[in-house]
Amino acid sequence: MLPEHLVYLLPTTSVVVFSLAEKLLFDRQALSSKTQPILLIVLINLAVSLGFSAALLIPFVMLVAPLQLASIAQLDIPGFAMVSLSLLIIDLVYYVSHRLHHRVPVLWRLHRLHHSDTHINAQTTLLHHPLELVSNNLLVILGAVILDIPAICLFYYSLILGLHSAFTHLHVTIPPKVERLMRGFFITPNYHRRHHAKALKVSNSNFGMVFVYWDWLCNTALFHDDKDSIDYGIQPEETPKAINLWHFLINPLR
Ligand SMILES: [Zn+2]
Repeated sequence: MLPEHLVYLLPTTSVVVFSLAEKLLFDRQALSSKTQPILLIVLINLAVSLGFSAALLIPFVMLVAPLQLASIAQLDIPGFAMVSLSLLIIDLVYYVSHRLHHRVPVLWRLHRLHHSDTHINAQTTLLHHPLELVSNNLLVILGAVILDIPAICLFYYSLILGLHSAFTHLHVTIPPKVERLMRGFFITPNYHRRHHAKALKVSNSNFGMVFVYWDWLCNTALFHDDKDSIDYGIQPEETPKAINLWHFLINPLR
């Protein structure tokens, strides 16, 4: 099996497992009307992801190769340090891409479908517009080329992100003491859901993907502990008119 298949199938599988656990343990709304259209968009995203790898990846890498500014792959450091540094830097690249998807209007049109969900749970992880998959891939690969990050580390990071994203969208409140300890290293559900608030001045924070450090350094880290006091979603004029595949797909045009 090709790594690209694994990169996409592992997160999908992890969301299915997390969703079933959510349904059984603490979230009665875990399987709802959004489940079927999200599964359909997952199939489209899988096809787009494979098409991107087959047709766009190599030409794009060749196109942007002259933009390389540094080379992490050439650093003379032990293998473990190389992998750890690369994972942190890739996380920064994802952080920058995420912020751009909120800041640049055309990118926001692609990303806002993910924020349209008004009940955040593991399935929200998979609610991404197919074109956002492309725009995010292009930005991340651009960053990886500029810094010459080892390709295998991008693969490792995708697997970690796939598992971790399902965790950060869980409809669960982790006990404060445990959560505070976890939040010293990586993003938790309590931390991430603030980013899904409807009010812009609230959601314009917590852009981190796996590690919390970039939010700290860029002063975008804010914390909110109570999942039930947040009004989730986006503005009505940006929200899909109905929870079905067609309205998900045409949402960027609204
Ligand atoms: Zn976002």
